[in-house]
Amino acid sequence: MSPFTVATAPGEQQRGLRRDLLACRMTTHVVVLGAGFGGLELVTRLSDAVADQVQITLIDQNDSFMFGFSKLDVMFGRQQPADVWHPYRHITKPSVEFRREAVTSIDPSTRRVVTDRDTYDADILVVALGADYDPAATPGLAEGGYEFYSHAGAERARDALEAFGGGAVVIGVLGGFFKCPGAPNETALLLHDFLARRGLREASSIHLVSPLPMPIPISRKTSAAIEAILADHGIDYRPSSMVTRLDADRRIAHLRDGQELPYDLFLGIPVHCAPPVVADSALAVDGWIPVDPATFATSFPGVFAVGDVTSAPVPRAGGIAEGEAATLAEVLIAQLTGGPPPPPYPGVAGCYVELGDELVGRIDVNFLEYDTPVAKFMAPDTRLTGEKREWGATRAARWFA
Ligand SMILES: Cc1cc2nc3c(=O)[nH]c(=O)nc-3n(C[C@H](O)[C@H](O)[C@H](O)COP(=O)(O)OP(=O)(O)OC[C@H]3O[C@@H](n4cnc5c(N)ncnc54)[C@H](O)[C@@H]3O)c2cc1C
Repeated sequence: MSPFTVATAPGEQQRGLRRDLLACRMTTHVVVLGAGFGGLELVTRLSDAVADQVQITLIDQNDSFMFGFSKLDVMFGRQQPADVWHPYRHITKPSVEFRREAVTSIDPSTRRVVTDRDTYDADILVVALGADYDPAATPGLAEGGYEFYSHAGAERARDALEAFGGGAVVIGVLGGFFKCPGAPNETALLLHDFLARRGLREASSIHLVSPLPMPIPISRKTSAAIEAILADHGIDYRPSSMVTRLDADRRIAHLRDGQELPYDLFLGIPVHCAPPVVADSALAVDGWIPVDPATFATSFPGVFAVGDVTSAPVPRAGGIAEGEAATLAEVLIAQLTGGPPPPPYPGVAGCYVELGDELVGRIDVNFLEYDTPVAKFMAPDTRLTGEKREWGATRAARWFA
């Protein structure tokens, strides 16, 4: 047990004792909830820059991390799950202690966190718990289809695809707000390749149903390029539409406008929600955590939030969560060292998109520096395929070395 944790129900006395302990050690106890894109980037930067001034407790319910895009690799049999998990036990960074525990309550006014095993009082508390899923919000999904956004869901979808003998596949985005806006298009194009490799493409149709008006709503030009690629691959793309329920017995997807779409295999991006421990806390407003998008401060002193769990005006994506965490690290380092505050988070990221035929494209986005968000599309080529691999490998090396 670290000197910053207590095993028994702690009282005011113990809290005071801990503060004294921290004062003696002249370190600041930073508690980071969630070891995903945001949490891992934050602890890496803090450990690199101010290890002598902080004691960081990093908490996650899992024992390993998986990149979001690896779920598509697992689903389409391109990678084995065992090869894409990065165990947290490999984190050996100065002043960082990883704890595998489930967070069960967060009190932002006292910065007290309770897990299934312990209680923590933070000087600085950072919530990076990501977004959760609510498959039950779509009636019939559990009985008649597969969500592929969770680790377990991706493996179930992989098994269903293995057994699939051809027919109509519907890929449905089931909520207006979801991780990685490029992912539904990637799924459709990787599915095209998967079916073609198995000699099943001719016997199959692929339908992509999304509530978004276009693939990348901030850019007509980028969206037109992606729509052309979808059309080239014979994919029936239905924007501004949404599957509201499945009739599992008849294998019919019911659309918002009353239309019916028959399917043999349904692959769904489930409705997203904040993890219950966040939704139940005083941090959540309309289900998510509001933050100052320049510094990621919440309305509670000493409490910050980054990544998918916030309602910052940017998309939910790993590259974005990482950029937010980098800015927050600068904010905290400036506070700890008495340096000048850093520039605000610019909302800039480069997102790689799998576009079929083993090719990757890139969308560079800038959400916050101009009056309106902008995007630039780099057409798919083999150089970007290597660049994407390198992007993931660099992060894994920095976070887990
Ligand atoms: C299929 C798919 C493809 C994607 N492709 C891309 C891509 O190509 N590029 C890209 O940039 N993004 C991509 N994403 C999105 C990206 O994975 C997420 O946006 C990113 O992981 C968000 O980072 P985060 O730190 O906010 O949350 P996460 O990385 O989700 O981390 C949250 C962590 O909190 C933990 N947690 C949650 N609740 C609790 C609790 N109660 N107690 C303890 N721990 C808890 C979780 O175990 C998790 O490790 C993809 C996502 C999916 C699903």
